[in-house]
Amino acid sequence: MGSPKINYFENAETPKHQEFIEDHSHCALCGTVLELQHVVDQVSCEIKEEARCPDCEIRTRAKIHTLN
Ligand SMILES: [Zn+2]
Repeated sequence: MGSPKINYFENAETPKHQEFIEDHSHCALCGTVLELQHVVDQVSCEIKEEARCPDCEIRTRAKIHTLN
């Protein structure tokens, strides 16, 4: 449906990298697994990455990746 492929986890093939991601995929407050979201802005070609805790309803991360 025209949505770009964003393979956040695809670079994490080694167990070490997976561990790293798991470490950073849990809420710092309650330990719940975070929901990662990628929002693509087609106009500015930016990908906004957000991690949200479904329990605390907080957003713990917002990163902007710019596509070329
Ligand atoms: Zn939480």
